[in-house]
Amino acid sequence: MLFKSSALRGLEGLIKKTMKILANDGIDPIGKKMLEEAGFEVDTNNIPQDELAGKLNTYDVITVRSATKVRKALIDACPNIKVIGRGGVGMDNIDVEYAKEKGVAVYNTPASSSLSVAELVFGHLFGGVRFLPDSNRKMPVDGLTKFNDLKKAYAKGIELRGKTLGIIGFGRIGREVAKIAIGVGMEVLAYDLFPFNPEVEVVLGGGAKVNVTVKTATLAEIIASADFITLHTPFVDKAIFGEAELAQMKKGVGLVNCSRGGLIDELALVDALNSGKVSFAALDVFDNEPTPREELLKHPKISLTPHIGAATNEAQERIGVELASLIIGHFKK
Ligand code: NAD
Repeated sequence: MLFKSSALRGLEGLIKKTMKILANDGIDPIGKKMLEEAGFEVDTNNIPQDELAGKLNTYDVITVRSATKVRKALIDACPNIKVIGRGGVGMDNIDVEYAKEKGVAVYNTPASSSLSVAELVFGHLFGGVRFLPDSNRKMPVDGLTKFNDLKKAYAKGIELRGKTLGIIGFGRIGREVAKIAIGVGMEVLAYDLFPFNPEVEVVLGGGAKVNVTVKTATLAEIIASADFITLHTPFVDKAIFGEAELAQMKKGVGLVNCSRGGLIDELALVDALNSGKVSFAALDVFDNEPTPREELLKHPKISLTPHIGAATNEAQERIGVELASLIIGHFKK
């Protein structure tokens, strides 16, 4: 086998036969090229979930994003699979422990999309404080005939600067959110289940760097005092914000969940929005994806996106490159 890239020539001879990779949820072209240059054959045609068990065994590696599920039954049906790659963070769609028991290596790319998710949080926050979601829904319908009514309806916006942002879960994404918040001039209160370093390095335009130590707080302190709260924990069985927690929040709080569906009790949230306790919510993730509750989709105080936190060109490129490097590294061992 001949390797075109000199950096990868060391792999020559290590890959005995052409390894076949099924990138079932796609892979960035740069990652695909890296794999091909390393001698792998990469198939980006999507095989529907219910046909995978019958077809996957002709491949050595499967890569997925969040759509394709790699469960026990599929792992059992395809003993030829040596590596499962997940482009992204969460591994909810893969039976990781079972795969490992069966000798299948599982890789993900946890850091590649953190900044993209953090920027989406601020897209939602900036939009929420100025009623952009509802204004964008109503302007096309009523903008011509009721312009002044709408102007009045969306007049009482607020600024983010000087307000307190509570960050629940101070991991990779939580930290990126904190950096943007500091840049915007917000006060940050950070909480995590485990001890963490409260210092973050904020990189400003022009390459200037500033180290800032954020305030740490308990969950109860954030619930009681934050103007906005954003969640960045993994999936949890019981909602972090249910009826009781929502009741203890500041009146008019804004909530963001770009993490995992289920972290906020959706029905309790709708009640809290209707009562005015919560002024707006922003949801990128839902309990029943891909069929979220209609009450959420139609609510005028909810800013909505269809689980696109990691979906930027930059993140997809970083994910593709990281995944390709991991797969190449795996077979180099
Ligand atoms: P991470 O592991 O780096 O950080 C998560 C943090 O949450 C950790 O520091 C952990 O200690 C903390 N934590 C765990 N349980 C907690 C709890 N009950 N209360 C408080 N803190 C708790 O993960 P990350 O890369 O920052 O990702 C965070 C979440 O974002 C994950 O659920 C991930 O699946 C999700 N995510 C969503 C998108 C999207 O498209 N919307 C994209 C990427 C990641």
